[in-house]
Order: sequence, then C-alpha cells, then structure tokens
Amino acid sequence: MSTTLMISDLVNESLDGNSCSQIIRLENIFKVYGTGETEVRALNNINLVINQGEYCAIMGPSGSGKSTAMNIIGCLDRPSGGNYYLDNVNVADMNDQQLAQIRNLKLGFVFQQFHLLTQLTALENVMLPMVYAGVKPAERKDRAVEALIRVGLEKRLHNKPNQLSGGQQQRVAIARAIVNAPVVLLADEPTGALDSRTTQEVLDIFSELNSTGITVIMVTHETEVASQTKRIVWFRDGEVVHSHLTPQELHHLVSS
Ligand code: ADP
Ligand code: MG
Repeated sequence: MSTTLMISDLVNESLDGNSCSQIIRLENIFKVYGTGETEVRALNNINLVINQGEYCAIMGPSGSGKSTAMNIIGCLDRPSGGNYYLDNVNVADMNDQQLAQIRNLKLGFVFQQFHLLTQLTALENVMLPMVYAGVKPAERKDRAVEALIRVGLEKRLHNKPNQLSGGQQQRVAIARAIVNAPVVLLADEPTGALDSRTTQEVLDIFSELNSTGITVIMVTHETEVASQTKRIVWFRDGEVVHSHLTPQELHHLVSS
C-alpha cells in the first residue's frame, strides 16, 4: 500500500472518531534538544487540547517553548516523547514523507517574516502549495485568485513581494496558507514585523477566517493581539501553566 493511501485511510478513519471536535491533542509531550551537558528540555510534559473552530493565542516569556510547541503542532518537528493527535490521528511516529503530506492536507502556516518567494508574483506564491497538493493546473489560478480576494489583494495579483508593503506581503502569506483549505491555521508571531494598523488588518482576516470554521492558533507576545482571540494559553519553562486565560487575567499576569 502506498503512503498516500495510508494517510487518506487514516484521515477518513478519523472522521468516525467520537472526539471529532478535538482537532489538536498533545499528551505528555516532551522535547529535548542536544544531549549531555548541552541538553535543553524545551517542552516538559505538555498536555493541551484545542477543539475545532477555536481561535487561540499562545503566549509566554521568550524561551518558554512556544515555537517548539508550534513546530510540533505544525508537524515541522517531532516530539522526543508523548503523543500528538491531529484530527484524531497520532502523528508522533510518522516519517518525514507522511508529515509533509499531513502538513499539506491539513495545515496552513504564517510566519513573522512572511517567507514569500521573492522572484514570484503574489499569484504565483499562492499557487505554489497547490502544485504540491496535486491540484489540476486549470484550477490553481482560480483558487489562488479567490484566496487573494479573501485577503483584499485582488489588485495586487501580479506584484512581486518587493512591490508590496509588509502588511500586504503578510496577506499574501495568509492567502497562501488558506488556499488548500486547511483545518488549522498556525501563525508564529504573524504581526511581529507589522505596525499597529497592519496588525489590525491581519487580525481582522484571522477573525473572519475563524468565523468560517478554521481553527486558528497564533503565538504572540502582544497582549492587545492575544486579547482579540477567544482563548489564551500561557507557557512557562516548557510547560502550559494556564490553558484558558481571560484578557483580564492576562493583563493581571503581565503587569504583576
Ligand atoms: P519561545 O518560542 O517561547 O521563545 P523556543 O521554543 O524557541 O521558545 O525555545 C525553547 C527552548 O528551547 C529555549 O531554551 C531555546 O533556547 C531552546 N531551543 C529552541 N530551539 C532549539 C534548537 N534547535 N536547538 C537547541 N535548543 C533549542
Ligand atoms: Mg518563538
């Protein structure tokens, strides 16, 4: 049986599970970097459940394990121990090829530094994930245009990244992240390189996407950004120390 078949079988199987609403379930997740004297325990027994349709901010001091957790949730890295169920499929033991396929099928990514390909236009950047997903060429352009309309960039289809503002580049990156209709959108400091006006534009797009059912998980260090989500998770020293902070509790935590 090919890997493709195996993954789609697993995906279909997951639809029959009785805990369908749990899109992300981390169970006793450890992550250790290095060995011996240079060993760093980046995640120390993380347990976290995120349900389908949530809009969640991950916060915590620098070095507390936020990016490490996002890389594991995003199937960009594997845990050293524990189980990770994505849409009820345990992905902790999958090989690189299987992880790449799961990423392409289920996840969209937005990063602080946009990570657009500079020699390609906005349209071409957004079409790229569909090449890997095996979408028919005739369909790619239509879907890319649709995604770019969704982020308000219909007039910028043929601009290259250096002809776009930072906020516009991040909107292209969001269009690229949603073009394969992911179930989860993961964003690591997506507004970290933006001014307050364009930050708000990006947050408005995330809210709109979330209202259509996409689960959004965002790392941020800005309390005003986190306060616009529906749930705040707080990391410290590689552990989840608060899994549901209100904006008021957050305010209290960061000002104490
Ligand atoms: P955050 O995103 O909250 O700032 P990180 O997840 O980046 O934290 O890092 C958590 C801990 O793991 C830190 O002590 C960091 O130095 C360490 N770390 C992160 N990535 C690596 C790596 N590739 N190799 C070694 N140590 C790492
Ligand atoms: Mg980080």
